[in-house]
Formats: sequence, structure tokens, C-alpha cells
Amino acid sequence: MINIAIDGPSAAGKSTIAKLLAKQLGYVHIDTGAMYRCCAYQSLKNNIELNDLIALDEMLQHMEISFDKAGNVFINGEDVSKNIRTNEISMRTSSIAKILLVREKMVAKQREMAKAKGFILDGRDIGTVVLPDAEVKIFMVASVEARAKRRFEEYKMQGVDVDYDQIAKDIEQRDYQDMNRETSPLKKADDAIEIDTSLLNIEQVVNKVLSIIQK
Ligand code: C5P
Repeated sequence: MINIAIDGPSAAGKSTIAKLLAKQLGYVHIDTGAMYRCCAYQSLKNNIELNDLIALDEMLQHMEISFDKAGNVFINGEDVSKNIRTNEISMRTSSIAKILLVREKMVAKQREMAKAKGFILDGRDIGTVVLPDAEVKIFMVASVEARAKRRFEEYKMQGVDVDYDQIAKDIEQRDYQDMNRETSPLKKADDAIEIDTSLLNIEQVVNKVLSIIQK
């Protein structure tokens, strides 16, 4: 068994692919974006301003994030899988993820969870910071149009009324924030293999990653 790092911008397909790969390989998937989303959700719920580092530290100390086998996410035992996926939380997450204190806590937790082999972590800094020794590193990208279209379809399937242009704008804004922050900006690790998923379906991407793993 090995560890696999999948990084890339939002809505490039990382979590979907990581989940399927984990199932096929019998690996454990850790969605690190969900962990930062939990931080954003919990801070909003507790009315904590993002510049109040003392309150954030206190919050982090009392927040236990866990996953079940189906990929549901829990904060102190409460299932927040749906609550962390709103657009409001997405935008707040991009802001809270810039805070060094938050990143240090999340990275330590991620390393602890993936101490052994057989893990697939997806995020922004897995190949560069969290698991620089991961045996396989994938950098997954896709055009803004392809990513916005996927998100739009997802929302439509859930019956959520959304505006395509707004989704595209939000994706661009998150890309900008994630790539330009001082702490662990989103970037490809030197030894990562880039996959552009814009014109590929899910099965094609899974097969591409599997062929890289098997090399
Ligand atoms: O992957 P997802 O879109 O759920 O991630 C939400 C946000 O969490 C990202 O926009 C990014 O700001 C942050 N994130 C991060 N580092 C990670 C994973 C996610 O900064 N490893």
C-alpha cells in the first residue's frame, strides 16, 4: 500500500475521484477540504470573527472532526455533511483556510490520520505540505467553465436554485484566494502529475489515476 495525494482547485473533481479510487483500492479517503469547511461552519455557528485568534484557538481545541466510512463528516459527533456544503460556507472556508493557526491544527490532524499507508487525501497542499513523501501525487485541474458547469448540475440535481454566472465568479474568486494566500498556497508539487479533467468523464479520470498508480 502507498499514500496518494490529490491536489487542485475547487470543483476539479478531486473528492469524487478520490472517493471512487478509495473504494476500488480498499483505501481510506480523507477529504481535507471538508475539515476546513468544518472550521468555517463551527466559527459561523459560534459567531466567532475570523480575526479573533483566541476564540478560534479555543474553538479548535474543542472541535473533534471525524469521518465515517460513507464519507459523512461529523463535528463532535454531529453530522454536518450537508451544512458544510453551502455557498456561504465555501466562501468563508477560503478565508479561514488562510489562517496559520487553523492550517497548523488541520495539517497535524491530517498527518496523524494518515500515519500508516493506504490513504488518499485530497486538498490543496497535500503533495506540498501534508504528505510531501506521498508515493503518488496528482494535480487535478479543469477549466473554470467545466468546473462551474459541474457545480451547476450538482445544485440543480439537489433542487437548489442557482445562477451559473455567480457559480463561475465564486470559483474564480476562490481560485484567486487559494493561489495567492501566504500560507500553503495552492500549487502543484514538483513531482506531481497533472491531469486536466475538463473533457474527461469520471471513469476516464479514475482510469488515468489507476494507470499512474500501477506504473
Ligand atoms: O475542496 P473544497 O472545495 O471542499 O475546499 C474548501 C476550501 O478549503 C478551499 O477553497 C481551500 O480554501 C480550503 N482548503 C485548503 N487546504 C486543503 C483543502 C481545502 O486550504 N488541503
